[in-house]
Amino acid sequence: MPSSPHPVAPPSCDGSKSGSLNVAVLGSTGSVGVSTLEVIAASQGRFVPFLLAANRSTQALVEQARACRPNWVVVADAAAAAGLAVADLPAGTRLAIGPEALDDLVRSPEVDRVVSAIVGAAGLRSTWAAVEAGKTVALANKETLVMAGPLVMRLAEQTGARILPVDSEHSAIHQALRSGTPDEVTRIVLTASGGPFRSWPRESLVAATPAEALKHPTWSMGRKITIDSATMMNKALELIEARWLFGVPAEKLGVLVHPQSIVHSLVEFVDGSVMAQLSPPDMKLPIQYALSYPERCPGPARRFDFAQGMQLDFEPPDLTRFPAVRLGYEAAARGGTAGAVLNAANEEAVRGFLDGALRFTDIADVCARVLDEHPFQPDPSLDDVRRLDAWARQEVVKWAVV
Ligand code: NDP
Repeated sequence: MPSSPHPVAPPSCDGSKSGSLNVAVLGSTGSVGVSTLEVIAASQGRFVPFLLAANRSTQALVEQARACRPNWVVVADAAAAAGLAVADLPAGTRLAIGPEALDDLVRSPEVDRVVSAIVGAAGLRSTWAAVEAGKTVALANKETLVMAGPLVMRLAEQTGARILPVDSEHSAIHQALRSGTPDEVTRIVLTASGGPFRSWPRESLVAATPAEALKHPTWSMGRKITIDSATMMNKALELIEARWLFGVPAEKLGVLVHPQSIVHSLVEFVDGSVMAQLSPPDMKLPIQYALSYPERCPGPARRFDFAQGMQLDFEPPDLTRFPAVRLGYEAAARGGTAGAVLNAANEEAVRGFLDGALRFTDIADVCARVLDEHPFQPDPSLDDVRRLDAWARQEVVKWAVV
């Protein structure tokens, strides 16, 4: 494991002290993006919104721009951008259009922190641009590391970019790892809420509807990740993310179902000591931690009152009802193109499920088949990753049509 937190001059959390940090929020109209803007708004000027980017939600983007007056808004989808009246933007906010413009702005020397919160494989290119430019990246887009973990981590080493996790589990692990050296770590356990179907029998899962799958018991998130939580594919993707982010072999990684979503993950050390991070399920905390690291600041995240009492339950995941978890272990152990193929197959299968073309249980089944059948490459280039991403999507479409 690489030594995790490297010592750097801590940023001040007090906006009155020197130096505020310009933040580029990629995916600002999404669930993580909106929470990021709340963290920025509560930061007393420490974090300044420099750029907000979305795909098609131009109305929401204009409203966000009016509220926080960034230097730039970027609309990735050119057709959607055509409907945005520049006159609706506040004075001082400029409009850029398309993914290339986004990459250029992310690389700009004025950007100090990049929050990578675009959903899915679409988030890879702008995150890559940020890492290439040596930025500090607060990474919510787990797909970046699932698809191209070794390539991205190698690039970060070359450019000096820092990748700080926003995923609550990985943020918890990052925080817990500060308690020991990499050699002292024996096991990393990611916790999972278990999703809305934690106690459903396999027979009922076959008929689970999108509306049922979108009702997450503890977290409020975007649609894609909410379905991933229901299948537990989210945990599969997180195992792969952890494998590359922390440089830990797959055998040292584990998963525990913890329905309360209060313990966000656990790290066990050689002496048997286990460090966990606890907080209410609220993404504002890990987002702020990634922005302010290595310092901690007061912020808007919810807090506990332990005096109210609470129950913490843990159980192993049921790999028969939730076979996606097994696929995560497999892809984390195999490396190479396995993560990219699993991710692409899953994205397409989730789309198929939401559109009514696939049943809930088909999602993991189709992913397993595509993963098995793909022409595995152990040391792919970024082009190989993109090619197999496209191939895997085609395979799922074929399955959904049959
Ligand atoms: P949402 O679906 O809520 O939001 C996605 C955001 O990405 C929107 O702003 C969307 O814009 C934008 N977007 C989508 N495609 C493109 C594109 N091609 N170019 C530019 N912008 C694009 O997702 P979440 O916020 O839930 O998740 C974002 C990422 O964070 C995912 O990778 C997820 O796995 C991860 N994550 C999310 C958590 C959560 O609590 N939500 C927790 C941990 C990780 P538009 O509105 O225009 O479509």
